[in-house]
Amino acid sequence: MKFGGSSVADADRVRNVARIVTESYKKGNDVVVVVSAQGDTTDDLIAKYKEIDVNASERERDMLLAAGEQISISLLAMAIQSMGCPAVSLLGWQAGFRTTSSHTTARIKKVDPTRIRNEISKKNIVVVAGFQGVDKHDDVTTLGRGGSDTSAVAIAAAMHADLCQIYTDVEGVYTADPRKVPGARKLPEISYDEMLELASLGAQVLNNRSVELAKKYGIELEVLSSLTNKPGTIVKEHTKMEKLLISGVAKDDDIVRISVTNIPDEPGLAFKLFSILSAKNINVDIILQSIGRDKTKDISFTVNKDNGQAAVDLLTEKFLSRYEGVNISMNDNVAKVSIVGSGMESHAGVATDMFEALFDANINIHMISTSEIKISVLIRKEYADKAVRILHDKFFPEV
Ligand code: ADP
Ligand code: ASP
Ligand code: MG
Repeated sequence: MKFGGSSVADADRVRNVARIVTESYKKGNDVVVVVSAQGDTTDDLIAKYKEIDVNASERERDMLLAAGEQISISLLAMAIQSMGCPAVSLLGWQAGFRTTSSHTTARIKKVDPTRIRNEISKKNIVVVAGFQGVDKHDDVTTLGRGGSDTSAVAIAAAMHADLCQIYTDVEGVYTADPRKVPGARKLPEISYDEMLELASLGAQVLNNRSVELAKKYGIELEVLSSLTNKPGTIVKEHTKMEKLLISGVAKDDDIVRISVTNIPDEPGLAFKLFSILSAKNINVDIILQSIGRDKTKDISFTVNKDNGQAAVDLLTEKFLSRYEGVNISMNDNVAKVSIVGSGMESHAGVATDMFEALFDANINIHMISTSEIKISVLIRKEYADKAVRILHDKFFPEV
């Protein structure tokens, strides 16, 4: 069972989680609970390091951010004990989380569940700090924002759990963010592939790496609310439901567009440009190349907002300096809006419908990118919420 930050935000919420957990335990289940930091704690800790040094070293940032989860595991273990059940809290390293050394974006290499198993055999409810682990130097690492979902799935896989429940502040996975789109509908189930696209395209309800891991190990997930006692959304390989044409609409406005113009139109330059970025682990998303004037070409692409300035600096230093006349610019007034659905694989005209809906709303498209089961467009940031709503209306008309 994993509980996100809002589910453990204050003492009442912690007690509420303790009730859910102890009820399951009293039914005879072995329970491992993964929790995130309370409420906005992680954001507050980030603000704190920025007060000291915005460029603080990543190792120390991890040391700081990992503290958030330490608070919630201890409080939850206390709440469970106060309800008369045995519980023990474990930090990531105690729970056996070994990760890579890429601080702030570490990946789980393995989970050694020995300690968790020991505690379970002593009949303890085990409360594990999400989002964190240790690397081969025994340094504390964190998994990137939203990483507790991945911690939970990793434990479920390592323990061969019968069930992995992700409790959050909405009742499941919806056809769009239910806080932004009032008509959004809860999906009874969704496939890993569709969920992976939605999560990667901005639906923060599940971290995309957690879905990747769940698919890899065949862990069925249930996303549900910690505040209402209702069935949630099941995430699994094959859904019984008739294939929906579209299963969701998502938005990501944490991105910037970088345009490199006036590049000599010669073979190999796209390779050189993007290899400079990949050498520094900067992920590039939508790419557009177009013909410029006088044997030149322009290449535009999007990257995560956090990497924007670094990408511009790198290319200025390593690319622009080598080719005369090349220019670079960055635009942060952009957002990516996407529709996802495995039904579009076998259905023509979905893209046309999407573009028509945007045209009807007079929203201009800057870039387009597609895969078998998604279509994304880049538009101006101020139109993003409206675009999500009109696309949702188009593909999920009121019945
Ligand atoms: P937690 O703290 O439990 O990890 P998050 O804030 O990370 O919770 O994720 C839950 C939030 O995801 C919801 O409050 C909701 O606003 C947002 N969200 C975005 N897209 C969707 C979607 N398609 N379905 C459900 N929730 C969504
Ligand atoms: N507390 C971490 C974050 O806010 C991890 C998580 O919530 O999953 O990103
Ligand atoms: Mg989350």
